[in-house]
Amino acid sequence: MALTDFLVEELNSLKQAGLYRPLKELQSPQRPRSVIDGREVINLSSNNYLGLADDPRLKEAMIEATEKYGAGSGAVRTIIGTMSIHNELERKLAEFKHVEACVVFQSGFTCNSGVIPVLVGEGDAVISDELNHASIIDGCRLSKAKILRFKHADMDDLERVLKESDGQYRRRLIITDGVFSMDGDIAKLPEIVELAEKYGCMTYVDDAHSSGVLGKNGQGSVHHFGLNGRVTVQVGTLSKAVGVLGGYVAGPRALIELLWHKGRPFLFSTSHPPGVAAACLKAIEIMEQEPELIERLWENTRYFKKGLTDLGLDTGHSETPITPVIVGDEVKAMQLSDRLLEEGVFAQGIAFPTVPRGKARVRTIVTAAHTKADLDEALAAFAKVGRELGLTRA
Ligand code: PMP
Repeated sequence: MALTDFLVEELNSLKQAGLYRPLKELQSPQRPRSVIDGREVINLSSNNYLGLADDPRLKEAMIEATEKYGAGSGAVRTIIGTMSIHNELERKLAEFKHVEACVVFQSGFTCNSGVIPVLVGEGDAVISDELNHASIIDGCRLSKAKILRFKHADMDDLERVLKESDGQYRRRLIITDGVFSMDGDIAKLPEIVELAEKYGCMTYVDDAHSSGVLGKNGQGSVHHFGLNGRVTVQVGTLSKAVGVLGGYVAGPRALIELLWHKGRPFLFSTSHPPGVAAACLKAIEIMEQEPELIERLWENTRYFKKGLTDLGLDTGHSETPITPVIVGDEVKAMQLSDRLLEEGVFAQGIAFPTVPRGKARVRTIVTAAHTKADLDEALAAFAKVGRELGLTRA
């Protein structure tokens, strides 16, 4: 028996459960039609909402900054890894989000794992939607605060938790995704904020799938609902609509400056290459100057969603460019994804434990860069494969 046999056993049990997933290889840029494992297919799985990942202007900004500052930043932010371009990006983001200050982390994931423990700790409670992202769950665990979950988007259940925990903790923080990544529904932020104000709690919104998608110029879910100034912390990612890599925290200056001192990924992990920061900055400028990009994203979203529902497919409660096709049965959902790929459409199949049992699905994400022809072709593939699998009306 080798000491590492358990690894092989774990892998084998994943395989037996049908949960083993080899990595697919993308052999082209992230585009509406991408080359995956040697074939060009319609790409309905990226988070490249605005099509900026392959935008020539971002690439140019990246190259220019690389020429000016070098390929790497050479240190963590707090030692000598803060370059002018990092500060410039943070000033721009604060202006864009209409908040006092912003700080950029290496990713959205590290934002959540780094920020939550600065807001709450032992003796505090974090009140979290049960479908919040894995990085929020990790951040909550790392904080050592008591974790209290409420049923997904259920405001009565949230109020129950608030009432039951009233007066028992030093501080309480309500956390929610702005847009839920598996269902594409939008958090009920106005109600959450009202309840938070009624019960004296801080609020925290993870706008990973809302920045660049919701609100004027893609300012996010808080702006979408007109709640500026009423949400304590907004976290966003630079890896999805912005098209590059990173996460940001937008909030009061005191929080941002405290994160310089206590946000562990910020303190102990090297800062972004300057080219990454410059490309993010360019993307924010484009979002401000070209509102038509977001309009196109929403036009495509409405068109594609209607096409799927007209076929009789179940798209759940989606309200955003993330549109699941809910199949239920895990094997059938994977079959749908595999058959779509054979028909030239890549849409990821998602099963337990990423979504609850019985809720397996294929998740689709359209972008501003898809053409009507791309979407029509994808819908034709859904019609054909959906019929084969007995999922569509016809
Ligand atoms: N939060 C949510 C809700 C997400 O969906 C994701 C990405 N899957 C993240 C955070 C992490 O963001 P990043 O990819 O920038 O690390």
